[in-house]
Amino acid sequence: MVPFIRAYPPNRPTGSVHVWYVFRGEDMVVEVNHGTQPLAGTPHGPNAITTSEQFVLGTQGNLSVYAAVVPADCELSEGLQTVHLRTLMNQQGVTPDVIMAASYAKQLVEFRTLTRFCTRCGAPYRSIPNNWGYRCDPCAFEIFPPVSPAIIVLIYSGDRVLLTTKVGWGDRYSLVAGFTEPGENFESCVAREVREEVGVEVQNIRYVGSQCWPFPHQVMVGFLAEYKSGEIVMDAEELADARWFERDAMPLTPPPTAISGQILDIWLKRQTETGMIIGFDRVLT
Ligand SMILES: [Zn+2]
Repeated sequence: MVPFIRAYPPNRPTGSVHVWYVFRGEDMVVEVNHGTQPLAGTPHGPNAITTSEQFVLGTQGNLSVYAAVVPADCELSEGLQTVHLRTLMNQQGVTPDVIMAASYAKQLVEFRTLTRFCTRCGAPYRSIPNNWGYRCDPCAFEIFPPVSPAIIVLIYSGDRVLLTTKVGWGDRYSLVAGFTEPGENFESCVAREVREEVGVEVQNIRYVGSQCWPFPHQVMVGFLAEYKSGEIVMDAEELADARWFERDAMPLTPPPTAISGQILDIWLKRQTETGMIIGFDRVLT
């Protein structure tokens, strides 16, 4: 597998074949016949579609990788269609590098299209050279593409796991998750979110891996935590149910393309002391 290498600071690409990750909102534009791949093109743009906000993302082997955007009302020519990034992430055969590049592209084009005027004084921003950020010259305020950390944690006790579900999830159960708050580290966030959502205390909090989750710009930071004490007291505003499941009577859970599915897999394989997620779909022990 040829890795995707970010071009930072943004510079001229070195690959001889040019591919474009083009977004229309949260949807990536793809060819009907190549539904999980970026569009072919030249250094000036993708074939068969006119884009704006073009920039270089990096390289992948002999590929020069670019990002661009089309307006929400852009009509696609025959042979093109869109796929929601979340759908793309769940498709079989999509490599981690395509997902990484697509997530990077989506977040950068979103930042570039939504960020126009200084939040402090209202003057127009200008691009900072060799950087993804913007600067307001009148007041010197600078802004950069946001990334919001959120924790996701599997609570276990021997052969049981404590899983939760929300309205709209159907029969599927998953892990406790929540945004990190200002002034908080990840371990404190894990303990707080668990306490708030299901009312129990945990110990032996252990980091196992992370996943970019570009909806709109999270990075999910994954943990295992051992149950310590307390009875389940569910946050009924956020959850529809929270309960213990035995290892041999598990409900429907997230797929392995999501970090929640991978953390569950570590526990199911009895690797809570050693299991580690490296990259998007690779689990090392
Ligand atoms: Zn300003």
